[in-house]
Order: sequence, then C-alpha cells, then structure tokens
Amino acid sequence: MGDTRETVKRLWIDNAEREALSGETFDTANPATGGALARLARGRREDVDAAVTSARAAFPRWAAMDPNERARILWKAGELILARCEELARLEALDTGKPITAARAIDVPRTADTFFYFSGWATKLGGETIPVRGPFLNYTVREPLGVIGAIIPWNFPLLLAARKVAPALAVGNVVVVKPPEEASLTTLELARILAEAGVPPGVVNVVTGHGEEAGAALVEHPGVAKISFTGGTETGRTIMRAAAGTLKKVSLELGGKSPNIVFADADVESAAKAAVTAIFYNQGELCTAGSRLLVERSVHDRVLEVVTSGARRLVPGDPLDPSTQMGPLVSEAHFTKVLGYIDRGAAEGARRETGGRREGPGFFVEPTVFSAVSPSMSVAREEIFGPVLAVLPFDDVEEAARVANATEFGLAAGIWTRDVGKAHALAARLSAGTVWINTYNRFDAASPYGGTKQSGFGRENGRAVLDELTQLKSVWVSL
Ligand code: NAD
Repeated sequence: MGDTRETVKRLWIDNAEREALSGETFDTANPATGGALARLARGRREDVDAAVTSARAAFPRWAAMDPNERARILWKAGELILARCEELARLEALDTGKPITAARAIDVPRTADTFFYFSGWATKLGGETIPVRGPFLNYTVREPLGVIGAIIPWNFPLLLAARKVAPALAVGNVVVVKPPEEASLTTLELARILAEAGVPPGVVNVVTGHGEEAGAALVEHPGVAKISFTGGTETGRTIMRAAAGTLKKVSLELGGKSPNIVFADADVESAAKAAVTAIFYNQGELCTAGSRLLVERSVHDRVLEVVTSGARRLVPGDPLDPSTQMGPLVSEAHFTKVLGYIDRGAAEGARRETGGRREGPGFFVEPTVFSAVSPSMSVAREEIFGPVLAVLPFDDVEEAARVANATEFGLAAGIWTRDVGKAHALAARLSAGTVWINTYNRFDAASPYGGTKQSGFGRENGRAVLDELTQLKSVWVSL
C-alpha cells in the first residue's frame, strides 16, 4: 500500500530545511498498513525559539509590504496548490488514511480556495472614523498582531493549516505552525509552496514534534502574540491555562458531539442518506460529524434501516485506491480508543445494528450504527471521533431541542424538515456555532465557523477571523 519510508522531513525555518537542534527524530505510521511511513524532526523548545526568532525578524517587512503584493502571493499560492493537487492528495491520503478521492475533491481544492478568498482581504481591511465630542478626529486602524502560533490536528492537516495561515498572512502576521505528530507531511509541503509563491523567509515556519514539547513551547513563548488552536477539548484546556502565563490571545476550535435532527415532515429518504455521510465522512474523524442522529419516532425505523444499509455499503480499503470510500483510522492509539467506545456502547445496552472491528492489517473500523441509545450512554455523550453513530428517537420538537442541547459541546447541528418556520425556530434554540438546515457539513472560506460551550471560542473563515488576527488602534487628532 505505497509505503514511502524514504520520506525523511526536517523542520522548515527561514524558508529552509533544518534538523532539530537536538538531532532527534520520530517516526510515523502508514495507517493503512501499520508499517512505517515517515521520519520527522523532533522539534523542541530550542527549535520553537529559532522559528519564533525568524518569524519576528520577518514581521516588520511583511506587515509593511504593499497589500497588493501580499494578495498576489496568496493568490499564487492557491494556484500552486491546485497545480499540485494530485501530489498533495496522495500525501494526505497516505499520512491520514483518508481516501484519495476525498483528498482530491475536498481537502486540496478547499485549501486553494482558502488562499484565494483571503488573498482578497489583504487589500480590504480598514478601520473606521468615529464621531466623538469636541474638535477631534478619531479613527481606528487594524494592525496585525505579530507571530501567530498555529497548532493543528491530524484529520485535515493541510486544510486546517491553510485556515490559519492564509488569513494570518493576509493581514500582515507571520506564523509558526506546529503540525500534528501523526500527519505532518502536507503542512511541510504547504510551507514550501508558500515560499515558491513568494512568501519571504521567516514569514511561515513549521516545527514538527510532539504536542507536549514543541506545541507547549509555542504556547508558552513570550514572542508569540496569539495561539490559534484546533484539536481536542482537553488539549484546549491545557493550552488556555498555559497561555495565561504570557497573557497571549487564544482561539480554540475544539471537539463536538453534533446532533443531526430528522423530523417526520422531512424528505426522510434524503435526510437518512445524508446522515450516513454526516457521520462517516472522513472515517468519522470530523469535528462536526453528525454523531448523534435524533429521529422523530414515527420515521425512526425507516431512517435506521436506510442508515444501517448505507453504512454497510461503504467500501473500505486502501486509501490510494480510487474505489475506496472508508479508509483506516489515523493511528493505532486512536483505533484502540474507538474500538473501546464500540465495546462500551454494547456494554451499556445500545443495540449494534452494524459495524465493529475489521480484521486485517491497518487501523480499519467498520462504519458502526447503534440504535436504542439513551442520552446518558457514553456513545451519546462523548466525542468518539470515529465511524460510530448513535441513533436516538424523539417525540416532539421540545424533546429534540432538549436532547440536542444536553451536551457540553456546541459545535454544529443539522435540522431536516419541510416546515421552514420550525427549522428557523429550532435553529435559534440550538447551542451550536453552525446550524445546517436540510443539508450537513457545508463549509466555505467566506462563512464564519467555530464553536460555543466547550467546543471552544473564536471564529475561523470569513471576515470574522480577521478581527481575531488584528488589534484595533484608536488614533486621536486635535483639529
Ligand atoms: P489533540 O488535541 O490531541 O492535538 C491537536 C494538536 O495539539 C496536535 O498538533 C498536538 O501535537 C497539539 N498538542 C497536544 N498537546 C499539546 C499541548 N499540551 N500544548 C500544545 N499543543 C499540544 O487533537 P487530535 O487528536 O490531533 O485531533 C482530534 C480533535 O480535534 C478532536 O477532538 C476534534 O474534534 C478536534 N477538531 C476540532 C476541529 C474544529 O474546527 N473545531 C477541527 C478538527 C478537529
């Protein structure tokens, strides 16, 4: 299954490859085989320090650069990403286990879109003039923050790196990225592409390594202005605590346990088919996965039937095979965790309609559907981040809203109904950063995205992220 063990990668600092100062490395696995895939530099505190120093040196020139020029570089980066679509998609599939068809259709083009979209903002962010008392002119300016520390997870490493890097660069910030230890290859490739597009040395740096070493060092570094983090809720808590030491800004995109709610007055067949993709897309390793399917009792059995047969039909296999629809999970540790949840679901009394462990090499789990789930079971409460769906019946809109909101998370939610009034009224009641009505998992670089409750705070994408990557200065002029 295409091991590329020759892949040995170094850190990326000042637009050049560097060994970790300690000379140490670590290995990653190919999720489809369990065999070795790549050897990466094990960046530590001193390497983070070198990257931050390089970024700080590059900041004044990048921030002062003609915004048209920054825009041109970002646009060019988008074009280079599209030109390298095949190569990037293959690398992402090998590293994460996701099907290459998905990486080709979604991860890479959406990464390019992110650069195209934020390229436009480089020339458009301005301040305001404020009417104030007295003979004064008061105006505001939006200034970049400085060094942004970007920490990303392994489920969409390329796309999530782009979501942090593109807007940061557009408004004049510089970046140090800490990619996930499980899958760092495309982030390193992205940094090379940015250099080729014209990003000067020091503006984008990548320090591979472990979260508790390189990641923690980035969070604690006094030269970093802000941490933009995407990952697990527990890690988010650790990062927020650690960031307090230097009072740096943080934005946290964390976990979810998103409710996908199907009413009897929906187009039930479409809703049920979409529910399969809502949970099993990317092997269920999606923060917004529709992992709780709430179904109005009168259509519950029909929806369960469609969802179960849809899950059984998903074709598992080698991520590089174009017919594969379900790849392996990213790592052995994650595979073990997901199987543990499947065992717990059964032990707690949920009925397993389909799914479970899949024999053979690699970290494969079959798409799993649990019915007869009650809201207190762990499969209904905890983020599994794998291909495991909990199906729960409800009787009316009140119960749907109550069960949907009975979670510590608040990332996303889906509503399926033909009653427009009911849909909008329920959307207003759901604690979620994103609500999809008669659709699911729609994203766009232009549309703000983020969580509420313990799914985090701050917004990515759209105009909203630019407010978070800049600070306002108020200037008074006596007239
Ligand atoms: P994780 O929290 O274990 O790791 C994420 C990143 O944080 C990695 O780069 C890791 O090295 C780093 N890290 C770990 N400990 C750290 C520390 N103490 N200090 C600094 N950095 C540290 O998450 P994961 O397992 O890679 O990803 C899965 C999680 O990410 C899930 O909970 C999922 O919901 C979440 N996620 C959220 C979104 C979103 O937009 N809300 C998107 C994708 C994934």
